[in-house]
Amino acid sequence: MKEIVVLSGKGGTGKTSVLAALAHLGAREQRLVLVDADVDAANLGLVLAPAGLAEHDFVGGKLAKIASDRCTGCGDCLRACRFEAIRAAGKEDGVPRYVVDPLACEGCAACFHRCPAAAISMREQVAGRWFVANTRFGTLVHAHLFAGQENSGKLVMLVKQQARELAREQGADYLLVDGPPGIGCPVIAACSGADLALLVAEPTVAGIHDLERILATTEHFRVRALVCINKSDLNSARSREIERFCADRGVVVVGRVPFDSAVTAAMVQGLTIGEWAEHGPPAADGSAVASELAQMWRKIEPLVPRQTDST
Ligand code: SF4
Ligand code: SF4
Repeated sequence: MKEIVVLSGKGGTGKTSVLAALAHLGAREQRLVLVDADVDAANLGLVLAPAGLAEHDFVGGKLAKIASDRCTGCGDCLRACRFEAIRAAGKEDGVPRYVVDPLACEGCAACFHRCPAAAISMREQVAGRWFVANTRFGTLVHAHLFAGQENSGKLVMLVKQQARELAREQGADYLLVDGPPGIGCPVIAACSGADLALLVAEPTVAGIHDLERILATTEHFRVRALVCINKSDLNSARSREIERFCADRGVVVVGRVPFDSAVTAAMVQGLTIGEWAEHGPPAADGSAVASELAQMWRKIEPLVPRQTDST
């Protein structure tokens, strides 16, 4: 089983539409398992129309809770908390009361250990949900982190582990991961252990800068990177700049995908650009984009450096 993660230094580069197109191409001859690792804003399902198989809670961490019937009002917890998550809440029968602000609590348990009356407990907190679903291209594992919750990296790791197990059980040839944008913790989680990263870049000034950042991340984690320049014809000079940048670093540019409004039209209809080109209206058939992506997939397959059956 080979693991490919699609990343970009920022959102809006067309990363998800590229991954969906690769899933369409790959599923013709290979068995796939898919992952949407953008747990803060998952959108691969908009194209793949997942039909749910299973749904699970994600426990993101623990929160402190004060049992007022045990609390003596000593205030030690207030002084122990470095995150200002404990607040005075008036008095009850002359005894000071304290409450935990769940949005500020980091779950460090300092208050739990400090409390002389054993009035504080640490309770698991459901911070999101993760899902296993059927799609026309293979099983999809995806997740949703609740608003205001942290630990997105932990949820990405969980989703990837589950997907890897499923991929092994199913004898999948490829695990295709739609990574989160940026270079933060969830991106690192999506990237770690991958055999290959496909970096989707746009030909803009910011796009080159973002590519540089995400490439530094994949290099740091020793994941081989290939580059796809999306909407490459919108700024040929910047595209050439990306080509030179990649050549200087020995990074192969495997795709130069032209702009076509059919990509958006296809996604609105819940189709990949390849499906749209096969069945869509001829006036905006997206065939040049579909053809370039098909060539890119053929270039990527032999460049995946190793297999991860043992990981
Ligand atoms: S440390 Fe314990 S007993 Fe003291 S105020 Fe906090 S919860 Fe109450
Ligand atoms: S668990 Fe840590 S952050 Fe939360 S209230 Fe206690 S001391 Fe503060």
